[in-house]
Amino acid sequence: MATATTRPQLAHLTAQLDELKAKGTFFKLRLLDDIQAPVCTYDGRKVINLASNNYLGLCNHPKLEEAAIRAVKEHGVGSGAVRTIAGTMRIHMELEEKIARFKNVEACVVFQSGFTANAGTVGSILGKEDFILSDELNHASIIDGARLSRAKIKVFRHKDVAHCEELLQEVANEPGKKLVITDGVFSMDGDIGPVGELAALCEKYGAIMMVDDAHASGVLGRNGRGSVDHFGVHGKVDVQVGTLSKAIGALGGYVCGSRDLIDYLYHRARPFLFSTSHPPSVAATCIAAFDILENEPERIERLWSNTAYFKEQLAGVGFDIGGRTTPASETPIIPIILGDGRKTMEFSKALFEAGLMATGIAFPTVPEGKARVRIIMTSEHTREQLDQALEILTSVARKMSLLETA
Ligand SMILES: *Cc1c(COP(=O)(O)O)cnc(C)c1O
Repeated sequence: MATATTRPQLAHLTAQLDELKAKGTFFKLRLLDDIQAPVCTYDGRKVINLASNNYLGLCNHPKLEEAAIRAVKEHGVGSGAVRTIAGTMRIHMELEEKIARFKNVEACVVFQSGFTANAGTVGSILGKEDFILSDELNHASIIDGARLSRAKIKVFRHKDVAHCEELLQEVANEPGKKLVITDGVFSMDGDIGPVGELAALCEKYGAIMMVDDAHASGVLGRNGRGSVDHFGVHGKVDVQVGTLSKAIGALGGYVCGSRDLIDYLYHRARPFLFSTSHPPSVAATCIAAFDILENEPERIERLWSNTAYFKEQLAGVGFDIGGRTTPASETPIIPIILGDGRKTMEFSKALFEAGLMATGIAFPTVPEGKARVRIIMTSEHTREQLDQALEILTSVARKMSLLETA
């Protein structure tokens, strides 16, 4: 039996948790009993899974599994050290070279996660005399990186290129460097960042351009090459971050750019220097995943056709899927906007009990009054599963009086 109860030293935590419970936004972790898949078992209940980032179904692709197992047999389970000491295996370099070729850049560095890629990069390429111009809805890891850099942070309104330009003009005569940063795809609304226009702005003002393609990797651009490819701005974005944890199906993050950028990060990015590298099996899995992106483009086509189909169905029954009160979704991330936090959490729970896993998201992750159930489409859902999901959504929403139409 556990002996440590919460002592008075941590009573302030209990108080905050009580507050969440009173607001109805306290959650328990749902446990996956089997395998990340379109239909799987959470907390002992079989559900249609519209909550994961497993966009292309790679989490259990046989070729990725084989690659991982082979790597364990050949190289063991751990790397034994940080990259700069003794923990760089040939397979780590092979992955970085593969990603660089795929993204059509000089070089690439792989981090332990997308989070550390952002935090480690933003945190190290700027200093306290510099400026960061950041979209208001950028990911938490960018915000943390910006804080770690001690640069001055200027936030522009969501996707507002003119506002970003105003801010650039304000600091144009300051001596520090300027970095403009946006998500390629925004994870809460599923809209696409104006990467092309921001890149042009950076050219005009001599600013550094950086994009976080976590939700665009494997989703946007040819074979899932990301937002730079989607907008056709190769060579105009200095720092491209991607994740290996979402569509790629495994774990990790990477930064793509010039040879000097990557060599600099090898020497200065703190998570690279002070945290152990990936197990070889993870690197092998990711290498196999990029082969799939190159050789099975039909997965991405299925992802987009499933997305179009489901959005049309949802809008048809009268759900607010963004565009009215929030930015319109342009990707496989589909928010169903309900507004009220408690109602949203109750809806998500009722959906689960009816056999559908879809995440409820409330303040502070999204603004107060913009709570939503977020759906993420994958290439592997069948039309039958999607029709069944729509039936569950509709009947539960009607029962809870969340749909106006009869
Ligand atoms: C998920 C996400 C990350 C973090 O990636 P991990 O590999 O899961 O650490 C970074 N940025 C954005 C926009 C994300 O959605």
